[in-house]
Amino acid sequence: MSHSARPTPRPGILEIEAYVPGKSVAPGVQKVFKLSSNETPLGPSPKAIAAFRSVSDQLELYPDGAATKLREAIARRYGLEPSRIICGNGSDDILHLLAAAYVGDGDEGIFTTHGFLVYRIAILAAGGVPIEVPETNYTANVDAILARVTPRTKIVYLANPNNPTGTYLPFAEVKRLHAALPPTTLLVLDAAYGEYVRRNDYSAGIELASTCENVVMTRTFSKIYGLAALRVGWAYAPEHICDALHRIRGPFNINSAAIEAGAAALEDAGHVDAAAAHNEKWVPWVSEQISGLGYEVTPSVANFVLIHFSKLPGQTAADADRFLSERGLVLRNVGAYGLPNALRMTIGTEEANRLVVDALRVFAGITAGRG
Ligand SMILES: *Cc1c(COP(=O)(O)O)cnc(C)c1O
Repeated sequence: MSHSARPTPRPGILEIEAYVPGKSVAPGVQKVFKLSSNETPLGPSPKAIAAFRSVSDQLELYPDGAATKLREAIARRYGLEPSRIICGNGSDDILHLLAAAYVGDGDEGIFTTHGFLVYRIAILAAGGVPIEVPETNYTANVDAILARVTPRTKIVYLANPNNPTGTYLPFAEVKRLHAALPPTTLLVLDAAYGEYVRRNDYSAGIELASTCENVVMTRTFSKIYGLAALRVGWAYAPEHICDALHRIRGPFNINSAAIEAGAAALEDAGHVDAAAAHNEKWVPWVSEQISGLGYEVTPSVANFVLIHFSKLPGQTAADADRFLSERGLVLRNVGAYGLPNALRMTIGTEEANRLVVDALRVFAGITAGRG
């Protein structure tokens, strides 16, 4: 049968490998610990849950398309101008809007080898050419990025910290990158895990996004705020970029429950502090325990760790994934991120963290026994 007489997607669309989310089930296992999507083990603030419920008796009403209540709450919390905050259906929505607005046919968009997969998808979906830049020690390399900038480079996406590696660039490096980019190239600083970082040389990028015409910072309520199900993200951007994005975004791209729960979550600083403290306690513990079993663990400033396995039969990441899944411990396979021999583990509850370490100890013992 000829396929010539049917609609065909624009060039680039069929080059996209659809994003595959982290698994949430382990068939045949009673109790599942989902450590595959960097969700918080503490859940959302009780205040956010109450706010979510409050929306349920007004479901016939359209949301406030301007998300005024949420933008004002974000502005108060972070000391920002509400008019320069734009909200989205998750920060994924905003990452796509940025490419749709700034990347045209044949334009180039840069991201790093083990960078977040959404960047490549957004660039291809916009008709652009994805330019993947090598990293150094699983970390973005500013010189390598700058070496790939051309007059066609319209956007540079940098996750800081990066997912799935957990590494980060100090703010001095981010500023060096920005200073060397052409003023017509948009720098997107994706700080989805910014609240978790406890390093005094780190900055999520508010200062750059506040003062430069070509920098956007994106944030999310999906991670430390525990509202991934509601899809709430936002960006801080110069007025002219907000203006462009408002023209193409869905008029109601953030729903009422997301607006109410997001605003309430911001009021509960204690809950966020508790989530950060839990992470600060368990990232080092998990990293040391797993390294102690002989696996390389990439040092992480976020709420997950990247664990590297061997390429030998019986010892691969796929073998470990199977072994852990059979025990209800669902980690993230990161082959699509160019890391076929690693798994990403989200920091879970104390119980989950201890179970993973115990299971990996057994796995390491079995594989060591095989020589
Ligand atoms: C989880 C994540 C996001 C957030 O996505 P949402 O659409 O807001 O849920 C953005 N960037 C990175 C690097 C992430 O890991």
